Amino acid sequence: MKTTGAVLYQHNSPLIIEELDLDPPQRGEVLVEMKAAGICHSDLSVLTGVFSMPPLPAVPGHEGAGIVREVGPGVDKVKPGDHVMILWAPTCGRCFYCQHGQPYLCELRTFTRGGQMADGTHRLRKGDTEIFNMTGVGTFNRFNVIGQNNVLPIDKDIPFEIAALTGCGVITGVGAVLNTAKVRPGESVVVIGSGGVGINVVQGAVLAGATRIIAVDLLDNKLEQAKKFGTTHTINPKRENVVERVQAITGGRGADYAFDVVGSTKVVALGVAATRPGGKVVLVGMGPADQKLDLPLTPLLIAEKSLLACYYGSSDMCTDLTMLLDLYKIGRLDLDSLITSRYPLEDINQGFDDLVAGKNLRGVVRM
Ligand SMILES: [Zn+2]
Ligand SMILES: [Zn+2]
Repeated sequence: MKTTGAVLYQHNSPLIIEELDLDPPQRGEVLVEMKAAGICHSDLSVLTGVFSMPPLPAVPGHEGAGIVREVGPGVDKVKPGDHVMILWAPTCGRCFYCQHGQPYLCELRTFTRGGQMADGTHRLRKGDTEIFNMTGVGTFNRFNVIGQNNVLPIDKDIPFEIAALTGCGVITGVGAVLNTAKVRPGESVVVIGSGGVGINVVQGAVLAGATRIIAVDLLDNKLEQAKKFGTTHTINPKRENVVERVQAITGGRGADYAFDVVGSTKVVALGVAATRPGGKVVLVGMGPADQKLDLPLTPLLIAEKSLLACYYGSSDMCTDLTMLLDLYKIGRLDLDSLITSRYPLEDINQGFDDLVAGKNLRGVVRM
């Protein structure tokens, strides 16, 4: 069949919206009609080449939601007509990681991270050229064939754009607090980077009952937005010393937790400095792969500070995403205010321009 997708042929050049050829779903795969896709900072990292995967040409986009239109043989998780959200990492339920409480590290991701189907082949082409899909899902596409382990059925009353965001930024941010850090009521957190994911770290801290929630960002408009989601304090490092201010807020000790939602070694070092002895620094943002951390080792040990990595919110995606959508339904999680702009697929390049300009909390492409 034919589909219309946004293809990246060269780093740092606009996406080309064009007609593509799509093969039918094979064993264990489903055809999804995409209805909404979030524009995430990780997509920008693909466009600029900061991320080396997927190879080009490729369809970016890893947050999405839509309707299953066709299923291949052996598919038992969904049926045609089901509404689904896209998981950017697969979970098979059978491998070592899926059976040991770390489904976000599922062994199937080897191929999907490289932009192919779980069996290492392709379904998307332009003429004779095979097109890769970001994380095996390439959601900036009206239709795409995706492994059944990369989709999760959702209730039909959940808006597609809400489901799209929940599958990446929301579960990553909230999961970093509840699963990776395991923040307890009364504790203090510093969130460095208040974009789409950082705001959800703030929302996670509110859910966990943290009583000092400190947002740090260089942009005042981001800090203003963060206040609406439950931060108790904001700091702009352009005007204030972050460590001194955090210590003043936390009885002179430093925060119990710091979250690096930027993906930068400088921010990790700042997080270490801003936490109390015994504190934990959680690595959430994903930056360039060649950064190397340079921290004084012995002071880290003497103060017993820990670095924790958070991949996909350290979540059991299926149960956690269902819980997050339940929290949304009863009004405990504000997902509507996260969406600040909507774009038709044809205007997707404008969406990226607005992301770079810091205009959006989250922009959403509506197919
Ligand atoms: Zn994302
Ligand atoms: Zn698995």
